Amino acid sequence: MSTESESSQKAPLAPGMVIGPDGKPCRSCTAFRSFAGMHKKKKPAGTSDGSAAAGAGGFAAATALAMTTAPTVETDPPRLPADCPPDVERLGRHTWTFLHTTVSYFAPQPTPHQKSSMLGLLNALPTLYPCGSCAGHLRDYMKSDPPERAVEQGREALELWLCKVHNEVNQRLGKDEFDCATVPQRWREGWPDGRCD
Ligand SMILES: Cc1cc2nc3c(=O)[nH]c(=O)nc-3n(C[C@H](O)[C@H](O)[C@H](O)COP(=O)(O)OP(=O)(O)OC[C@H]3O[C@@H](n4cnc5c(N)ncnc54)[C@H](O)[C@@H]3O)c2cc1C
Repeated sequence: MSTESESSQKAPLAPGMVIGPDGKPCRSCTAFRSFAGMHKKKKPAGTSDGSAAAGAGGFAAATALAMTTAPTVETDPPRLPADCPPDVERLGRHTWTFLHTTVSYFAPQPTPHQKSSMLGLLNALPTLYPCGSCAGHLRDYMKSDPPERAVEQGREALELWLCKVHNEVNQRLGKDEFDCATVPQRWREGWPDGRCD
């Protein structure tokens, strides 16, 4: 009987799947759509389960079904259920939410204790962030643009620093650049049109 880890090692790697330092597929470094269905046991022929095929774990099955029955219909990418371990995108989205919000509530004139706590948090990320390849990029970035000066200067400078860090990732992933002048509205005040109030 093969264990889950044995079967995941034998399974062919999906495009976009990142291997972690333990040699196994890394969920927190990979988008869910790239590994969805990899660990699913094959259903016996003739088993019909439309909801499973259309659901998160059955991307391969849903795609195969679409190819045999309706080749012109595109299937939506699978969605990671809310109570599953995060993929690289959910982990990133939630981490950015925490980081930008924390920085946006940082004191304009921080005390020595607030400064050292913030530096401890930011400098720990390249070591502790669960997506190893993301952490490696962040480590490189922080070598060329360390947070010390911005932390020393307080909230406004740190909001700009973190916005630049995030924009570097956006650029690397081919996403639009975020307008750093709008960070206070995005992360603390809400937008002038009142939709956040
Ligand atoms: C430290 C770190 C490193 C990462 N490295 C990688 C990586 O190497 N490879 C990878 O595939 N993924 C990486 N990610 C994840 C990636 O950045 C995204 O979080 C993920 O792709 C989901 O993107 P998203 O489009 O939902 O928006 P996100 O990029 O998660 O952004 C969330 C929200 O933040 C706001 N926002 C966007 N840019 C800025 C900005 N510059 N300043 C302020 N607010 C902004 C927008 O309103 C956006 O909707 C990393 C995440 C973190 C926290």
